[in-house]
Amino acid sequence: MKKQKVIEKIKNDPLFALRHSAEHIMHMAVEDLFQGAKKVMGPPIESGFYGDFDYNGKITEEDFLSIEQKMQDIVDANLAIVVREASYKELKEIFQDNPYKWEMIEDLEKNKEKATVCEIGEKGSKYYDIDLCAGNHVARTSDVKAFKLLSVAGAYWRGSEQNKMLTRIYATAFDSKEGLDEYLNILEEQKKRDHRNINKNLEVFALFEEVGPGLPIWLPNGMIIREELERWGKETEEKWGYVRVSSPFMAKRKIFELSGHVPYFEDEMYKVTVPGEQEDEYFIKPMNCPFHHMVFKSKPRTYKELPLKIAEYGTVARYENRGAINGILRPRIFCQNDAHVYCSKEQAIDVFVEIVNLHKYYYDMLGLNNYHIELNLRDPTKMNKYHGNEEMWQKAEKITREALDKSGIKYTVVNEGAAHYGPKMDFKIKSAIGTEYGISTNQIDLYSPERFGLTYIDKDGKEKPVIVQHRAPLGSNERFIGFLMEHFSGNLPVWLCPIQVEIIPIGDKHEKYAQRVKEALKAKHIRVEVNDKAETMQSKIRDAQVKKIPYMLIVGDKEVEKNEVSVRLRTEENLGSKPLEEVVLKVEEMYLTKSLNLW
Ligand SMILES: [Zn+2]
Ligand SMILES: [Zn+2]
Repeated sequence: MKKQKVIEKIKNDPLFALRHSAEHIMHMAVEDLFQGAKKVMGPPIESGFYGDFDYNGKITEEDFLSIEQKMQDIVDANLAIVVREASYKELKEIFQDNPYKWEMIEDLEKNKEKATVCEIGEKGSKYYDIDLCAGNHVARTSDVKAFKLLSVAGAYWRGSEQNKMLTRIYATAFDSKEGLDEYLNILEEQKKRDHRNINKNLEVFALFEEVGPGLPIWLPNGMIIREELERWGKETEEKWGYVRVSSPFMAKRKIFELSGHVPYFEDEMYKVTVPGEQEDEYFIKPMNCPFHHMVFKSKPRTYKELPLKIAEYGTVARYENRGAINGILRPRIFCQNDAHVYCSKEQAIDVFVEIVNLHKYYYDMLGLNNYHIELNLRDPTKMNKYHGNEEMWQKAEKITREALDKSGIKYTVVNEGAAHYGPKMDFKIKSAIGTEYGISTNQIDLYSPERFGLTYIDKDGKEKPVIVQHRAPLGSNERFIGFLMEHFSGNLPVWLCPIQVEIIPIGDKHEKYAQRVKEALKAKHIRVEVNDKAETMQSKIRDAQVKKIPYMLIVGDKEVEKNEVSVRLRTEENLGSKPLEEVVLKVEEMYLTKSLNLW
């Protein structure tokens, strides 16, 4: 989420005052327990708060229990929290030993801003604290009903590496124990579902420092998932009337000047040196759009060809800073399920509705039903980020809103995040545990046709500009698969599973039959393997369970004799022995229909 939006959200959070108060209590506890620790600062953040300390020793997670106990003591003491004005002089006296607070006081003085302090408890009593603070607290420490310290990290004062490294403690607080427990459960579940964690068992991708940050290598299992998805994307697009193209991985500066990516996007693009051609600057492509525009331009077009839908699974590279990189969810190179639809002004709204319907089709098939569109408009404080034709912006915004209304999809409006050339729509999907992901981006674009001179000859013989719609319902393979791994907690639908069936012979003598079962499944293009390791049946089952293989077929004397297999699902459901033929047909059906069920 963008920084401004996060700050707004935190301030509007009813728990803001409570978490801010808990942060003061944490500062008190730490200063009380650790000789010489100086409180620096720390705001409430989304779903919690943090506090920074200057402490020459080390504070670790092992100290959390004693800090929490001290905090509980302060909460139980039921102290009043009061804010009052203070003079700069008084403040400097209070904080004579704290250079950080001094710096803040001097800033206030310089800007002639009113200074306030917050006092907790009575001066001279067991617990008393005074801090520079603009307020918004709960009335008493006992209003902080539940809290928990979560982690500790290093952080530089004012975020600058030139400054001293401080100790930062992350924590959270709630107005009830139930609220806290629920949140801690979600954290636990999120950790379990983290796609990098699930990847350890699923072996989808690998990252190496030698290859570079944000540059995942797809492993064999990952390629199976990727190719299944791409096949689905291509087959679907063919049915919906798309044509496919392929564009080069890098291109001259000129084309990106035309598209407006240079200069608006230049600091997120990778420059390439072409041997012997120093006079031209090349870039790795950050987007496929300019090339599709050139395809449209490659010959004169008439109204009969519209809407023209040009699709490509196109690999693009965009700079992400190291801190933002996250497995395959946020890499530096990714392959998009991209397409651009060129249409007349009259067709624009119907085309958009069709694109929304395509999204619905994909998401329904995957059982994703918690999604909406976020309409991103221009940030009024950063108008220099966008190209300047006001009339065009307003027209694009009008068509976009009309189209959204007609499509009937839920949407919210945000005054930031537009593309440099027009309003942007993000499809936001919530995963099974409520984590929100931006999966697909859509745009109704009036700017590119003007820049590239994209026109067609209409029925009346006149040359008219087209409207372009950018769309990528399945996002990038990287982000979409990372999302699916987390959403399904690794239990992918049968059709996406790298290994769909694991055959488990009980003893050596059942191996021959196990191979026959394997051939029967392979004949139906089902992905299957036989576990013929010298291990117990139980450990083979556990192994398949960890890899999230949907079907385990166990074969022993009885099965060999009756031409059956004993079926176990990854849900731990035991279906007992069934005729081999019936099982093959069932698995094939689940695979071909892209069913979300196992049986
Ligand atoms: Zn405060
Ligand atoms: Zn595009």
